[in-house]
Amino acid sequence: MSPITHLLISWNIANLPRHSSQRDRALVTLAGIVPDLDGVGLVAEGFTRNAEEPLLWWTHYHHVAAHNLTAALAVTALAALLANGRRPTALLAGIAFHLHLVCDVIGSRGADGYPWPIAYFWPFSNSILWTWSGQWSLNAWPNFAITAVALTTTLLLGWRRGYSPLELMSSQLDQRFVAALRQRFPRASDPVAADGRRRHSVS
Ligand SMILES: [Zn+2]
Repeated sequence: MSPITHLLISWNIANLPRHSSQRDRALVTLAGIVPDLDGVGLVAEGFTRNAEEPLLWWTHYHHVAAHNLTAALAVTALAALLANGRRPTALLAGIAFHLHLVCDVIGSRGADGYPWPIAYFWPFSNSILWTWSGQWSLNAWPNFAITAVALTTTLLLGWRRGYSPLELMSSQLDQRFVAALRQRFPRASDPVAADGRRRHSVS
């Protein structure tokens, strides 16, 4: 699936606990998108396409180098090391990482029909590959539906809790976004202004 869909799903996983720190939410969300780092080989492959010996890093390593158990263990250990709430964050990071793999297996068929199998035990084994016969294309409607649901719950979480994935980039930007969201859809608990409209407050 697309990195945006993975990000939204991972953000929702990060928000499963009612209370969490910004750092822990960032760690879980990053754990859910980090497998796609092995897709950056696309740039090198694109640049060397017409070379005598093209670098086939995308072809050979996408869904291989970072979509595996070894990477999952490394990411989970790193999350445990850096988190405020070590155990829940490590657990959620492991879940977000594996949910990324599952989403790729069910909905990342290429335009040419290639299933982009997951080499889960790479680099120790290249022969065990995850695929699913019912896999749909990357641009198929279920992916748009999943993205729409994840986006809706993300907006709902932002409206209720006062933070969104934008906090990964800038707290100020995030607060402005939540303010706009709550101004458009006032909460019952927001104070009512003298003119009868609800005033915004970030809490
Ligand atoms: Zn992926």
